[in-house]
Amino acid sequence: MNATVASSSPDTYHPAFNSEGDVVLVTSDSIRFRITSPVLRTASGFFRTMFDSAHPDPGTPLGEPSVISVDEDAHTMTVLLKVASGMRVDFFKTLPNIEDMERVMFAGEKYDMPAVMEAMELMMYTPTAKSRPLHRYALASRYGWSDICADAAIDTLDLEIDFHDVPAMDLEHFNRLLRLRSRRVAAMSAALNDKNGRFKGGNRGTCAPDGTHTLAQPTAWEVMKRYILYEMTIRPSGSSIDFADPCCVAVATAVCPKCPAATRPYLFAWEVTRRNIERILASLPKDLV
Ligand SMILES: [Zn+2]
Repeated sequence: MNATVASSSPDTYHPAFNSEGDVVLVTSDSIRFRITSPVLRTASGFFRTMFDSAHPDPGTPLGEPSVISVDEDAHTMTVLLKVASGMRVDFFKTLPNIEDMERVMFAGEKYDMPAVMEAMELMMYTPTAKSRPLHRYALASRYGWSDICADAAIDTLDLEIDFHDVPAMDLEHFNRLLRLRSRRVAAMSAALNDKNGRFKGGNRGTCAPDGTHTLAQPTAWEVMKRYILYEMTIRPSGSSIDFADPCCVAVATAVCPKCPAATRPYLFAWEVTRRNIERILASLPKDLV
């Protein structure tokens, strides 16, 4: 919380905040915003507390505005003060990426400005924010926006997480994301390996229900399971699983080499197998626990 009294400097006023007010805020890039203290009081818990506990500054001549330096730049402060003053803000144009939104959120939190935070919560539903799922998740978790958190978490499943480039977030929230990823991989693994479930034929390791011929290990099915689980570990959405991959084609075309050539059946009912994998993918956990 660094809002300190600054000395006067050559005046460059923001055009929307250049006329009235008993307070002048000076941003980190030396732009001045003249505004009335009642507006700041109403919009910001921080300034309300500050004004309540302030003593008259002997360095400020009577009738002159109090000058206060803030850490934020003019771009961020413009959004805050326009919201505070009830002025129109073109949020889409003003905040073209999630980093800009984040700066406004940090300032809105710091200055305790609920109206700013409500506007930023809505901004989290824009395509701009949605295009950055991990960053969106980090911000939503920080501010307790649980619906956005849950939505963003699902979108992160399609990402390969670069652990050197994870946005700042509480470890607890990052753990929830990692847990969701591993729960999905574990559920997929259990379904693929279930000896009595959808894939019991593949998991039997023989060419027919009566176990006529034992197949050489690893079978094409076992190789494909590893491929699927590997892809799921990288992208737990399963979106990178490619059924045209050679190991899937091998399953689709596998026959028992020990059965008579004329009657060799395909070992795996490929269309059913593929459909079952897609069904399992659709049923994997999506919730944060
Ligand atoms: Zn056979």
